[in-house]
Amino acid sequence: MNFADLGLSDELLRAVETSGYTQPTAIQAAAIPSVLMMRDLIGIAQTGTGKTASFVLPMIDILAHGRSRARMPRSLILEPTRELAAQVAENFEKYGKNHKLSMALLIGGVQMGDQVKALEKGVDVLIATPGRLMDLFGRGKILLTGCELLVIDEADRMLDMGFIPDIEEICTKLPKNRQTLLFSATMPPPIKKLADRFLSNPKTIEV
Ligand code: AMP
Repeated sequence: MNFADLGLSDELLRAVETSGYTQPTAIQAAAIPSVLMMRDLIGIAQTGTGKTASFVLPMIDILAHGRSRARMPRSLILEPTRELAAQVAENFEKYGKNHKLSMALLIGGVQMGDQVKALEKGVDVLIATPGRLMDLFGRGKILLTGCELLVIDEADRMLDMGFIPDIEEICTKLPKNRQTLLFSATMPPPIKKLADRFLSNPKTIEV
């Protein structure tokens, strides 16, 4: 399987080439075509399998070829830790540097002022930890009603860290007819329950 067979745009194929990747990893080969077809997805994969590119690459193509109706975030990626959120943001910048997409990194431990400014200006993608996102919600700074694509990454770590109630609340603030991708290294019963409640007819990929 080659990257060129996955349905990505030529522009993204060039970004992939620039990254030095010659072949898609198993999760990328299985996930990218179905994300591009707007299907919900459960990806059972560890860190190190290339799973970040499996959702960031198709997300960039989806966002680049659609159009925002208002200056509202169209996509939300939830990560359990600041470090993982920052890594995903780096990936997003690396693959998306030729696309005019804007992003805000909403994590704790840094002042809220710049994050609020970015939100007021309008961004396409939010990459957030649940705590800071809920905090910004509490202050009335975020509206997710235009969010078409949600990624819940490292769901089992979210569970270990006690974030499931926050994630459930966040899910209810997004439109029902969105696309949802959930990644987890394992599928303990509370994560299965979360997926049953918030994903619709998902494709499951295990690598
Ligand atoms: P991840 O599992 O997303 O944390 O990715 C693990 C590492 O694999 C990162 O350093 C990526 O840059 C790298 N990577 C992702 N996809 C590929 C690929 N198709 N070929 C080679 N390396 C890759």
